Amino acid sequence: MYNFSAGPAVLPEEVLKEAAEEMLEYKSTGMSVMEMSHRSQAFAEIIGEAEQTLRNLMSIPDNYKVLFLQGGASQQFAMVPMNLMKNRVADHINTGQWAKKAIAEGKLFGRVNVIATSEDKTFSYIPEMKGLKVSEDADYVYICHNNTIYGTKFNELPQTDGKTLVADMSSDILSEPVDVRQYGLIFAGAQKNIGPAGVVVVIIREDLIRDEVLPGTPTMLKYKIHADNKSLYNTPPAYGIYICGKVFKWVENMGGLTAMQRRNEEKAALLYDYLDGSTLFKGTVVKKDRSLMNVPFVIGSAELEAKFVKEAKAAGLENLKGHRTVGGMRASIYNAMPVEGVKALVEFMRKFEEENPR
Ligand code: PLP
Repeated sequence: MYNFSAGPAVLPEEVLKEAAEEMLEYKSTGMSVMEMSHRSQAFAEIIGEAEQTLRNLMSIPDNYKVLFLQGGASQQFAMVPMNLMKNRVADHINTGQWAKKAIAEGKLFGRVNVIATSEDKTFSYIPEMKGLKVSEDADYVYICHNNTIYGTKFNELPQTDGKTLVADMSSDILSEPVDVRQYGLIFAGAQKNIGPAGVVVVIIREDLIRDEVLPGTPTMLKYKIHADNKSLYNTPPAYGIYICGKVFKWVENMGGLTAMQRRNEEKAALLYDYLDGSTLFKGTVVKKDRSLMNVPFVIGSAELEAKFVKEAKAAGLENLKGHRTVGGMRASIYNAMPVEGVKALVEFMRKFEEENPR
């Protein structure tokens, strides 16, 4: 069976097997990681190693903190404005649902300027970055780096005139190398390329970690409290962090982010090349903005699309239905999806196209 879910998504089999072996007892400690004090030496090593491996993988500079927090990526939609707004102004680029949710949340705290949008064409492209005008008083510029629902990805970053760039990388973190120094803050919900849902990883430049947050910001929503306490201010999602650490090691063993990128490009090319040659299926995103992780496609007949999803499931290809807000199909091909999974999907699509000619 191959699982094309957009998230929670497939995890590396090696990670799950290792976790199963250690479920009852972690490394002669006499207990499961779930039963362990988060103040213990064993857990200090687990979280320390997870952070260090992520730092190595992404070449995170020393002046950035790595935080393992809770509340999923959605909580960051509020934490970002609460902690980063000074003028109470944020510039956002609207590339669809996840970007819109961040815009709505930002509006609870200040003025949000939507400085570019692709809403006119159902978010099937990334707006032109050249000539983009950033507001003079903006506290930061916010993007959703890879839109999970629409399958678009920023291949060119906005020029921010020195303003802090904030990126939601929930659905493409660790899929390819990124230059962390271009961002003030990166966050990613874990449940696609990192680990179990609920955990969110925040990579934040130290000068953005401040005491002077918006009035009323709860203690648990201050980056500073978590940075000062090395993500152990309260009981962290310890088991989730342990799995994240294992996934980071897996990426490292796979050859790191350059190797991951090669593998992801190979997988995505298999699917996009097929879609481009098909007379039945059609990719929905303009070529230059296509995601390596989420590949939406349509047939243009609700009846045939339902048939496709049903028959694919029977053939062991799970979770190919598009997001409930957009319909059609979507194949999410995150890091842990093997190339064989994509080949099986393309084979199935070919067969379906033969049986259902246009
Ligand atoms: N941002 C992106 C790009 C997502 O794909 C998702 C959801 O999966 C979220 C944010 C919300 O994540 P969560 O459910 O962890 O709050």
